Amino acid sequence: MAQKAPLILQPGSTIGVLGSGQLGRMFALAARELGYRIVVYSPDNDSPTGQIADDEFSYRYDDLDRIRDFARKVQVITFEFENVPAATTAAAARFVPVRPAGEVLHLTQHRLREKTFLEENGFPVTPFRRITTLQQLIDAARELGLPAVLKTASFGYDGKGQQKVRSESELKEAFRNLRGAEGIYEAFVNFQKEISVIVARTLAGEISTFPVFENTHVNHILDVTFAPAAIPLKIAKEAARLASGIVEKLEVVGLLTVEMFVTKSGKLLVNELAPRTHNSGHLTIDACVTSQFEQQVRAVCGLPLGSTELRSPAAMANLLGDLWQQGVPKWDAALDDPAVKLHLYGKAEPRVGRKMGHLTATGATVSQAVKRVLRSRGRLH
Ligand code: AMP
Repeated sequence: MAQKAPLILQPGSTIGVLGSGQLGRMFALAARELGYRIVVYSPDNDSPTGQIADDEFSYRYDDLDRIRDFARKVQVITFEFENVPAATTAAAARFVPVRPAGEVLHLTQHRLREKTFLEENGFPVTPFRRITTLQQLIDAARELGLPAVLKTASFGYDGKGQQKVRSESELKEAFRNLRGAEGIYEAFVNFQKEISVIVARTLAGEISTFPVFENTHVNHILDVTFAPAAIPLKIAKEAARLASGIVEKLEVVGLLTVEMFVTKSGKLLVNELAPRTHNSGHLTIDACVTSQFEQQVRAVCGLPLGSTELRSPAAMANLLGDLWQQGVPKWDAALDDPAVKLHLYGKAEPRVGRKMGHLTATGATVSQAVKRVLRSRGRLH
């Protein structure tokens, strides 16, 4: 392992990014503001991140010779896409530090490993069972009850590989839908709200959380986020405490996003971890003293963390490819409100469900910010 890296990577150094989507793009923009150079690696070219980077490697993640060439060109590697194979991060880590470490990636790539880690360390999660046979699924339904959510253990995001099971009669089909993949059966959480906490940790162990974000989803994809979340201070504090506890236990160097449910009785349950920036944190660009992307740069380069203070209530609305179905959106109409900011990710093809950009609005109150961002999005057509 490359352990001899300096503690601080000064501006002017080169940061490598694995994955080339919008998270990498906004990271690269923040890194450039701080004077860093960026090299990105992914199977794509002319990618959202590649358009901003100094250099773009367009090869498969399992092409370890190319990964080594990439690692030799940079002083630290971080990622924006978590389904990078473990062998890839291991090959890169022989040359430069990978932050967060491959072990964190490995854990968070797999829902069963992740939930088992959380449960064993006393972090609250909904009851779950591992599913590899129909009998295990039938037993899980008896023990944990119905309805429930059956998810594939690997490669799930934005609700992909996920199904709600309502009754015993649906179990057989639900099992068939796993198509031989390892599954996780989760007791259904009748939640009041979904929130997320993004937390940063440095090599020196400094930890800092962003304000709690409240999230609403449409078709399992994040639709609108606002901050501060409309929850009692006590719950917000508890959410920050949980996120800090998890980042510390995992010894993450970089960022960790912790998605949580707030149950009807006001209890918190951790749903998912992502060892990176997150869609729900996009409003930090326009509303916080330090954006989540700048914080990631600071954390992986060994700089002190920036203030996460929310300068004003804010709301973010995603722009999916669906919007293009009725023609090119009217950007000028959306920007008619001067408190609204537009972010587009440089993606050429607006496919349905694809994240193409987002709008952020600030306001005197959260409800004003939400109203503004929705009004602006509504004006796109
Ligand atoms: P995930 O891919 O695990 O982030 O799940 C996507 C979305 O599905 C979440 O944001 C929730 O809205 C919903 N969901 C996931 N797991 C559960 C659960 N155990 N109970 C209720 N809703 C869930």
